[in-house]
Amino acid sequence: MFDIAIVGGGMVGAALAVATAQAGIKVALLERQTPGVLTDNCDFDLRVSAINRRSEAWLQQLGAWQQLSVKRLAPYATLKAFEGDAAPLDFTAAELGESHLGHIIENLHIQQALWQQLPDTVQQFCPVQLSGYQQFEDHACLQTDQGEIKARLLIAADGAQSQLKQLAGIGSQGWQYKQACLLVHVKTSYDALSMTWQQFTPQGPRAYLPLPGKQASLVWYDDHLRIQQLAALPSQQLEQQIKQHFPAALREFSVVKQGYFQLTRSHANQYVKGRLVLVGDAAHTINPLAGQGVNLGFADAECLSALLIKQFTAGADLAAPALLAQYERERRKANLLMMSAMDVFYQVFSSKLKPLAQLRRLGLQVAAKAGPLKTYVGKYAAGLV
Ligand SMILES: Cc1cc2nc3c(=O)[nH]c(=O)nc-3n(C[C@H](O)[C@H](O)[C@H](O)COP(=O)(O)OP(=O)(O)OC[C@H]3O[C@@H](n4cnc5c(N)ncnc54)[C@H](O)[C@@H]3O)c2cc1C
Repeated sequence: MFDIAIVGGGMVGAALAVATAQAGIKVALLERQTPGVLTDNCDFDLRVSAINRRSEAWLQQLGAWQQLSVKRLAPYATLKAFEGDAAPLDFTAAELGESHLGHIIENLHIQQALWQQLPDTVQQFCPVQLSGYQQFEDHACLQTDQGEIKARLLIAADGAQSQLKQLAGIGSQGWQYKQACLLVHVKTSYDALSMTWQQFTPQGPRAYLPLPGKQASLVWYDDHLRIQQLAALPSQQLEQQIKQHFPAALREFSVVKQGYFQLTRSHANQYVKGRLVLVGDAAHTINPLAGQGVNLGFADAECLSALLIKQFTAGADLAAPALLAQYERERRKANLLMMSAMDVFYQVFSSKLKPLAQLRRLGLQVAAKAGPLKTYVGKYAAGLV
């Protein structure tokens, strides 16, 4: 019997496995797909995340940060938002007394570092197919193609389409946004800027994320049809479109590859059901506008692992209702706050109504000058408060 069985070995599930197993908890980690392997010289993967300072500190504590290759990290010290010719709103690490605000890192790279850091005591089931689950008074059981796996506590870290959440009959509230987003990996004629910028347009934002060396990841938000059409274009035609619709600050570049994603907001109606707990995208998906999704997932995993380790040290039940309720209380509130903030942001910046557009420009100008408030927002975005 395992203490905990984690379904999903993506960034969040793997981090939780490392944290709990390092404290002596007996962990089973189930992953459907064998994780891809990255080496220093291989091509960059399209899926990248902006990892904030709080997540960085936790990954460092787990020893996973030290497994990352510096050749595949792009730190940024400035975050800039602008619209038309209005004065930009920028947050700099220097004004917060910090060396940097975050890093752009491939999801696969983070997952790989975490898997390298898994203690030998973690039993890995990978690749594995889950077919069912049951709960009993003192344990829960997963049915898989590798047999039954029993644990005191089950954790669903299996992403936005969580099978375990569905098997448990946990519903969600949410919707699909009117916009989709195109990710484009480009080679640039200059070294990556130590900056990430976002330009707001009536059709949706355009963003630049630095990648190591002479590379970058561009993000283009627009309505679904437009994004699908752009994603299907040959490289040279896409380059022309980007030149027409991105700010001139992008300068010379060539397209390497592209892919597009639907944007969905969803929030599970409950994070806990008996001996089952949800973390990361299994519990919530958020508009990626400000790159906060996996940072929220890491915060879930950090909170849950701290509670579990305390309980384990005291020799108490890892599925005690009061413990799991505390996790849900803490994390639901924080996640909802960030999700709602992103929705206000999305509504205000995607509106084509003239008064709202004027208010938005004014808002950016006021925010650019608002000392303590601006400092607070900068720290919040970087995960420093
Ligand atoms: C376009 C886009 C851009 C984004 N940019 C950012 C960003 O800049 N910053 C940021 O913080 N977040 C960003 N996000 C969000 C971020 O990618 C997610 O929040 C993050 O990947 C969630 O991690 P997770 O481990 O919870 O889920 P996932 O990454 O989805 O991992 C789930 C894992 O579970 C496995 N799995 C699934 N089902 C099963 C099963 N039945 N059995 C076993 N294993 C299973 C999967 O194979 C996978 O490995 C972005 C998202 C999108 C769509």
